[in-house]
Amino acid sequence: MNLILLGPPGAGKGTQAQRLERSRGLVQLSTGDMLRAAVKAGSEVGLKAKAVMEAGGLVSDEIVVAIIADRIAQPDVARGFILDGFPRTPAQAQALDTMLAQRGLKLDHVIEMKVDDAIMVDRVTGRFTCAKCGAGYHDRFHKPKVEGTCDQCGGHEFTRRADDNADTVRSRLDAYHAQTAPLLPYYQSKGVLRSVDGMAEIDEVTRQLEAVLAGGASLARAAN
Ligand code: ADP
Ligand code: AMP
Repeated sequence: MNLILLGPPGAGKGTQAQRLERSRGLVQLSTGDMLRAAVKAGSEVGLKAKAVMEAGGLVSDEIVVAIIADRIAQPDVARGFILDGFPRTPAQAQALDTMLAQRGLKLDHVIEMKVDDAIMVDRVTGRFTCAKCGAGYHDRFHKPKVEGTCDQCGGHEFTRRADDNADTVRSRLDAYHAQTAPLLPYYQSKGVLRSVDGMAEIDEVTRQLEAVLAGGASLARAAN
């Protein structure tokens, strides 16, 4: 099963993608994670992307499409994937269609995570991640069960993203509304758009996603 989780920064895409990886064996493909790895490695792509990411803008379609094209060609992706943070522009969506068609793949669902802008600054500024396994947490909304210890791997070190500050969130939200929201009617017209309530509690969002996937699985089988 191949999915896109679509929503603004802080909507819960990464949180839910990690859960779907564990429950369904799908592979999370986060362009944000890939770009952060490139920045950390100091690669040519990382050097080009760093300043744009720090300012909360969008990295060029050319760079991001090339990263995803490489990743989608790797064998583990055949298990099914969850795109998280890609596509973010109409040009990226078209490039994705071409890539998938070339590989004989299709999108089963594009799932919009509906959230209010008003909560996004709180969501993003409270975010932190286990440095060892990447599990995501929040200062108020999703604390580790034992303070200072990762629920998933027992790690004790956590990191915060350089771009998770109130100023950058506003730019990132603007970029979402201007450049990414137009993908909603695009996928609606293809008949693959679904939505979940991203304002609900994390477990409830997971339940809604699982309901979409359960309904969709039989639809996909019927169509084959
Ligand atoms: P995205 O990947 O869409 O940018 P994340 O999954 O990283 O968003 O979530 C942003 C922050 O909000 C994280 O700290 C996460 O723990 C928290 N979070 C995610 N989903 C919810 C939710 N439904 N309710 C409250 N907090 C949430
Ligand atoms: P994210 O981890 O999805 O919040 O992305 C962090 C940052 O990486 C964004 O603010 C952008 O600067 C950049 N980025 C991630 N994915 C894309 C994409 N598909 N297109 C352009 N820029 C991206």
